[in-house]
Amino acid sequence: MAGMQTPFYLIDKPALRRNMEKVAHLRQASGAKALLALKCFATWSVFDLMRDCMDGTTSSSLYELRLGHDTFGKETHAYSVAWADHEIDEAVGYADKIIFNSLSQLDRFGDKARHITTGLRLNPRFSTSGFDLADPARPFSRLGEWDRERLESAMDRISGVMIHYNCENRDFDLFDSQLTRIEAEFGDILKRLDWVSLGGGIHFTGEGYPLDRLADRLRAFQDRFGVQAYLEPGEASITGTTTLEVSVLDIIDNGKKVAIVDSSIEAHMLDLLIYRETAKLPQSGAHEYQIAGKTCLAGDIFGDARFEKPLSVGDRISIADAAGYTMVKKNWFNGVAMPAIAIREDDGTIRIVRSFSYQDYKSSLS
Ligand SMILES: *Cc1c(COP(=O)(O)O)cnc(C)c1O
Repeated sequence: MAGMQTPFYLIDKPALRRNMEKVAHLRQASGAKALLALKCFATWSVFDLMRDCMDGTTSSSLYELRLGHDTFGKETHAYSVAWADHEIDEAVGYADKIIFNSLSQLDRFGDKARHITTGLRLNPRFSTSGFDLADPARPFSRLGEWDRERLESAMDRISGVMIHYNCENRDFDLFDSQLTRIEAEFGDILKRLDWVSLGGGIHFTGEGYPLDRLADRLRAFQDRFGVQAYLEPGEASITGTTTLEVSVLDIIDNGKKVAIVDSSIEAHMLDLLIYRETAKLPQSGAHEYQIAGKTCLAGDIFGDARFEKPLSVGDRISIADAAGYTMVKKNWFNGVAMPAIAIREDDGTIRIVRSFSYQDYKSSLS
């Protein structure tokens, strides 16, 4: 690995397998099914490993849907905030289940989906998200239906609902109490359905999460309403499995030591910038540096890091948790070389599965 050209994303297969074992355990213990949310992670080179432990994929667009169908297989759920007329025929060709976001989309396209399972997104009007940008229950939210009369008018055309209302929720008791609230408020509707997807955002692969309590809760939910439950883990599937490997290009000291690396938070870890978080950097040792990107954006800063020894040009730095909402958002800002994608196999060997060139940059525009 020492000689490999940076930057590259590095997916650790043993770490991914540990997450997948937790997913598999939860499925087995709860009877719930688990679908990978492709909007979080769509690096299909590791789907061979993930497929054994998950039931399929869910999507947020025609292209994600097609990727799930082509590269993952098994159950393929189609969801989109809004389908276009020219998309719907192709979409129902890939999907075995389609979940409409609104009653008007169900009215418009329900007939086209008659041969596959059909559902509607239900918005319970509360969520665990503390960030307005990502809160599906924010005021005037366009994400799903909640009005009783509107839901009722869909009941003869749907066999299930999708309720996505968790966001990196590590707190089982909060999940439990919010599910209880859904049961109380929408129980009469749930009883008449065959399946309910509880969406993503439950951080059940995290250290110390009470996986078996979650399994029991899901089983009780299914038994009470006679439904098949689905989970749609994105971040939970891949958390802690991937790093972004970069190298120091220059060190500047204008009152603070700044190490400039061959990457960019704006281009290669954009999600952190959007949510005003800092990157997970090394934090042990007495030598402190700000780690910054190489674009001309003044705020292209990954965050502060600490090292045992002073940094030198050419040193490698490993930035943790670079899978979720990261590889799917990489972009060509400033024309910075896009990180390659590499996989660390079980025996420790590293295999590059994709690298990007000037031609990829050029062909992303015209
Ligand atoms: C984003 C999203 C997910 C995945 O969420 P994570 O927080 O990554 O688990 C699942 N389902 C729906 C409908 C989503 O919008």
